[in-house]
Amino acid sequence: MTTSPILSNYINGQWCSSEATETLNVINPATLEILAKVPLSPATELNHAAEIAQQSFASWRRTPVTERIRYLFKLRELLEQNQQDLAQTITLECGKTFAESLGELQRAIENVEVACGVPTLIQGYNSEDIARGIDEIMIRQPLGVVAIIAPFNFPGMIPFWFFPYAIACGNTCIIKPSEKVPLTMQKVFALIDQLGLPPGVINLVNGAKETVDAILDHPHIKAISFVGSTPVAKYVYSRATANGKRAQCQGGAKNPVIILPDADLEMTTKIIADSAFGCAGQRCLATSIAITVGQAKQSFTDAIATVAETRVVGYGLDETVQMGTVISAQSKTRIEGLIQQGKDEGAKILIDGRNPKISGYEQGYFVRPTILQDINPQGELARTEIFGPVLSLIHLNTIEEAIAFINQSEYGNMACLFTRSGAAARKFRYEAQAGNIGINIGVAAPMAFFPFSGWKDSFFGDLHGQGQHAVEFFTQTKVVVERWLSDWSRQF
Ligand code: NAD
Repeated sequence: MTTSPILSNYINGQWCSSEATETLNVINPATLEILAKVPLSPATELNHAAEIAQQSFASWRRTPVTERIRYLFKLRELLEQNQQDLAQTITLECGKTFAESLGELQRAIENVEVACGVPTLIQGYNSEDIARGIDEIMIRQPLGVVAIIAPFNFPGMIPFWFFPYAIACGNTCIIKPSEKVPLTMQKVFALIDQLGLPPGVINLVNGAKETVDAILDHPHIKAISFVGSTPVAKYVYSRATANGKRAQCQGGAKNPVIILPDADLEMTTKIIADSAFGCAGQRCLATSIAITVGQAKQSFTDAIATVAETRVVGYGLDETVQMGTVISAQSKTRIEGLIQQGKDEGAKILIDGRNPKISGYEQGYFVRPTILQDINPQGELARTEIFGPVLSLIHLNTIEEAIAFINQSEYGNMACLFTRSGAAARKFRYEAQAGNIGINIGVAAPMAFFPFSGWKDSFFGDLHGQGQHAVEFFTQTKVVVERWLSDWSRQF
């Protein structure tokens, strides 16, 4: 019998075994094969990483920014050369399709590319002669050690919303991946190991709650970028900020789309199906509720039901598959329980994806696309994040009612509208309370040079990840007022 390897941490430029007494199995959610064991690193290991990163910061911040980004140019090349291998690892541990894994890595690469622009993005501003012989300048300086805490659903992308910017700005960092999908970062760090970076600039510590708590309490760690569920985001934000740290915490979502009667039916249906069922609904920008307005109801309901029923579900490495697994047995049970809850609250299960039999993968954590019709707009299901391939349908009479329904949500990650009317689109863009808005778009994911903007309980903090926002988050401003006279004997 072969035993699964225990994954290592990467601290001070070296792979090191964890002294954790507890490990978790990393499982392929389609085959249930145990891929590895992940150590739940104790606080002492995180503290060691923080000490190392702090020591490394002293010289890294003095390294010229042009030199710092040269490592990113090299990382970009390595990511591209290894994209297929990395994508395979994402699919193995996360269950999504290979094409989806390639797609998330593309956004990771784009973030590295944008972070290569930090020499420009980090620039401050200046004003000469604010008084005679006096100039004022604003410069940006790095914070020190920063930490990134990631969720399970995009193991190859989400750390890249942050760390390329953090290190390009002169910070050192610690990454804690999700304990459910730690293999992708092992592979990424195998590439980071080839960069020749000074030891301690980027560190990897595997673990779960104890490791996170050590991050939240460590005095060397000045800023935290967190992505995950809303209850944990709230907890991380409050504990980190109570300890005087900067924090940006992305939380959960319940994303609605509105379909107006004038929307192009074929395009709208395809886009909404991709949004609701892509990555098995485990995207923070997945459509969860489709609101039909007026005459759109019957035609959209029929069309989306057909697409949901014919979606090819299976093992993500099979090229013909359009949708893979959900992440775990616990997640499958929870999603199927919420489908039942929707029914109990009065919805009709139009397409029921519970307990599918996927040939060759009978034990896998599959839920097929599911459609719940006429859910209770005031019910629990209309508010709860499902994070699975479940689309709930609601019918309302006007766009005003639809926007009012959207705006009562406690979440505000994404909202989309499907229409051919410019006036309706403008009204929606203006009034909808969400940080990411799509007009005839189903996954309004910002490019790497735009901030990833959630609102309400989808985000706690101020500056977001990616692009200029990340540069501002990972730097602090310093204003210098200076007097230089050509004639020091002059009276003034
Ligand atoms: P999660 O909150 O369970 O875990 C996220 C991270 O927090 C992990 O690294 C985990 O180890 C850690 N963690 C979990 N429980 C903790 C606790 N009690 N104390 C301290 N740390 C803890 O989230 P998940 O299930 O991995 O990811 C799915 C969630 O992430 C969904 O809610 C999804 O909407 C959200 N998400 C949001 C965005 C966004 O940009 N808003 C992006 C991706 C995912």
